[in-house]
Amino acid sequence: MKYYSTNHQAPEASLQEAVVKGLASDKGLYMPEVIKPLPSLFYDNIENLSFQEIAYQVADAFFGEDVPADVLKEIVYDTLSFDVPAVKVKENIYSLELFHGPTLAFKDVGGRFMARLLGYFIRKEGQKQVNVLVATSGDTGSAVANGFLGVEGIHVYVLYPKGKVSEIQEKQFTTLGQNITALEVDGTFDDCQALVKNAFMDAELNAHMKLTSANSINVARFLPQAFYYFYAYAQLKKVGKADNLVVCVPSGNFGNITAGLFGKRMGLPVKRFIASNNANDIFYQYLQTAQYNPCPSKATIANAMDVGDPSNFARVLALYENSHKAIAKEISGATYTDEQIRETVKKAYQETGYLLDPHGACGYRALEEGLQDGEVGVFLETAHPAKFLETVEGIIGEQVEIPAKLQAFMKGTKQSLPMSKDFASFKAYLMKV
Ligand SMILES: *Cc1c(COP(=O)(O)O)cnc(C)c1O
Repeated sequence: MKYYSTNHQAPEASLQEAVVKGLASDKGLYMPEVIKPLPSLFYDNIENLSFQEIAYQVADAFFGEDVPADVLKEIVYDTLSFDVPAVKVKENIYSLELFHGPTLAFKDVGGRFMARLLGYFIRKEGQKQVNVLVATSGDTGSAVANGFLGVEGIHVYVLYPKGKVSEIQEKQFTTLGQNITALEVDGTFDDCQALVKNAFMDAELNAHMKLTSANSINVARFLPQAFYYFYAYAQLKKVGKADNLVVCVPSGNFGNITAGLFGKRMGLPVKRFIASNNANDIFYQYLQTAQYNPCPSKATIANAMDVGDPSNFARVLALYENSHKAIAKEISGATYTDEQIRETVKKAYQETGYLLDPHGACGYRALEEGLQDGEVGVFLETAHPAKFLETVEGIIGEQVEIPAKLQAFMKGTKQSLPMSKDFASFKAYLMKV
């Protein structure tokens, strides 16, 4: 399968090139040239398949031409070592719990898949070690580090701003050891990002070691997110709730929802999508006005959605051939203030006993307000509420139970190397490893 750039100014890439490069040379995002519909037989029988079986069929449609079947199957089965249950919250509203992976957030799926696919390409080429550089303001670092943990042939360097990530976030990438090195940068997130960018541009460094990124726009992180939309449908079909299905996605960079839109293109019977935003509502405004006006991001309590210029908007445009009309026909929008998010977490907890995280709360509320007669809604619960402990406890006025997986991280010992924000010292460090 060939991958084209959304900017159309770069040569087409193979899967391997697209995965290793991440971003096309014209700064566009890679898109698969064809999106293959799955046969009706698959949908007829989907409720009798396991998550892994479903995911393999979907993965085969994207990657089957480029990765041998046995390898791809192993990658899929190994990636999905945890369940993604659709849990009933109230009549006709279900929560797709994407927080049962190692770091309790949906980015685990893409992170784990990409690590394993990259590992395969490295082994195939008989290449020397590949080094992944990732700058993080918190959550991306943990999903990438845990996704790549123990994958042979890859070493990960996580750069994070000293004193600017929460303790639990820090523990999730500084306690791992093995092939993960955490670098505590004396600076801001922007300084970390600048170090990574400079490293990719430095010829001497690139001659010394093979560098790659694990950015969220990478096709190997993005496409696997389609898997769980199919599994959500299967679970609802099993309980007779899959007709007129509405899927609601708390959205920031729009990678997650775009993977769902790919699913619909493959024939997945979803009636429509809702993209739910926090106060960063550029997409919501686009739906209303047909104008796309990116702006600086605003800090909210659903901070993983604080994105002022969603990168995957380019993929949405490509999918619908730049037609605002076609986009607005399949996707509607919603936007919520911090106050409304708080209110939603509290009310849902009081009424149903279900504890939402601030991101999932945006999804739940958009369904509560937007479902029409005869529709069933499922929202993506993108992280466990305990990941936002202080916020959530402050809202409900009760202690939140911390899952064992998160507690285990808290018990680990932090191991990190101090690093100056000055590129020369970062480079000197890498030249010695
Ligand atoms: C990353 C993230 C989002 C936003 O997902 P996008 O793919 O960027 O739209 C939502 N919720 C949580 C918890 C996240 O970590």
